[in-house]
This record gives sequence, C-alpha cells and structure tokens, in this order.
Amino acid sequence: MIKLQNISRSYTLNQQIVHALKNVSLEISAGDFVAITGKSGSGKSSLLSVIGCMDSDFVGDYYYDQQRINQRNEDELAQLRNQHFGFIFQHFFLINRLTAVQNVELPLYYQGVEHDQRKLRAQQLLRVLGLGDRLTHKPSQLSGGQQQRVAIARALVTNPDIILADEPTANLDHHAAQQLFGLLLQLNQRGKTIIFVTHDLALTRYARRVIQLDNGRIEKDEAYA
Ligand code: ADP
Ligand code: MG
Repeated sequence: MIKLQNISRSYTLNQQIVHALKNVSLEISAGDFVAITGKSGSGKSSLLSVIGCMDSDFVGDYYYDQQRINQRNEDELAQLRNQHFGFIFQHFFLINRLTAVQNVELPLYYQGVEHDQRKLRAQQLLRVLGLGDRLTHKPSQLSGGQQQRVAIARALVTNPDIILADEPTANLDHHAAQQLFGLLLQLNQRGKTIIFVTHDLALTRYARRVIQLDNGRIEKDEAYA
C-alpha cells in the first residue's frame, strides 16, 4: 500500500542543514498497525509527514498503491490526503470558533458533500464516540480527551484507509490515552491501517510492527504476531 524507497529529507535553517531522514526505505501493508518510535529529533514526525503527503520536499521515491506520488502538485497532494488519510495530532488543531459538529464536518466540506449529509455524518460519528451530548460545544468547552475524540471523529468522517497519528496521547491523561488506543485497535480490527508516532516505548505494545528511528535512519524494524 505504501512503499518508500531511499527517502531523504533535509531542512535548511539559518544556513544550517539538518538531515532529518537519511535513505529511509520501508513498505507498509494495508491493515497493519505500525508504531514509529525513537528519541526526540530522530525524524519521526518528518517520516509521518512524508507518508501522509503533507511534505513533498524529499528525495527518493514514494509509491501509494503502486502509483508514484513524487512530483504531484499541492492540489493533487491535498486530494490524496483528503481521500486516503485521516490525521490525529498531539495538539488537536480544532477550530475554536466552530462547534464539535462543525469541526468534524470540515473534511466533508472540502469534498463537496452537501450540508445536511455532512451534518448527519458528523453527528453520527460524534455519538459513536460518546459525544452525543456535546455536539454543539466549542473546543474550549470540552476536556482534553473530548477534544481529541472530536479530532478523531474529524479524522474518520471521510472513511479514510489509513489513520496517521503523531504523539496522539501526549496531551491526554492515562485514562483518555487508553481509550484512544482502544479505539484505534477497534478501527484496525475493522480494516483500517494505523500508523502512529510515539517517543513512549510503553505505547508501542499496541502495535504489530515497531519501526525505530535513530538520527534519521531506521535502526530497528520488528513485526509481532
Ligand atoms: P521527531 O518527530 O522524532 O522529534 P522531527 O522529524 O520533528 O523529529 O525532526 C527531525 C530533525 O529535523 C530534528 O533535528 C528537527 O530539529 C529537524 N526539523 C524538523 N522540522 C524542521 C523544520 N521545519 N525546519 C528545520 N528543522 C526541522
Ligand atoms: Mg515529532
């Protein structure tokens, strides 16, 4: 489903070059549950950005479902993201002036889904996630765990094939973090491919495959039954 070949990514900041990814090659199959781990600064977020088509300034080849997706323009990348990926971040990136339902509707708006359909699907999903009594709350009126569930609903509303999560539990308490991973496990059992980034080795036990980065390189790549 995903194939990276010799991917390198460097950033230039104040005339200094940082080599964030160095010749990374990997394949991820549909239905897998993958943790990307490593110390802070090892390149985890950079790798997830490449995988999620949020970054195209890399060297090397990226194939998604056998299609080479280098050299796509910004519109094409945005379309790929919107069609195939759902994103969950450490900072939930909800829009504060919008209600929970409106936040969840947004990706459907970009797909051109009409208003009543959007609203219906957003409401249904929020109910499934236990937020049926918080539909018209604004993010500031919700707890951290609830905000993350709104963000998850937003990631799921387009029915993506792949869910990408970057340190998704960093701002959650233990209970909310366990709930989140319980949910990711369920989604994986229903066929979604999950790729999450964490610096916390304890969380890698949820994954079936653990890719460990060190200084921009894959140091370890282990699969578990
Ligand atoms: P991680 O997520 O594992 O902490 P990152 O992928 O965020 O690592 O960063 C890898 C390296 O690239 C770090 O040294 C970081 O400082 C650097 N880096 C990341 N993003 C940028 C950027 N936009 N500009 C300059 N340097 C960056
Ligand atoms: Mg990071």
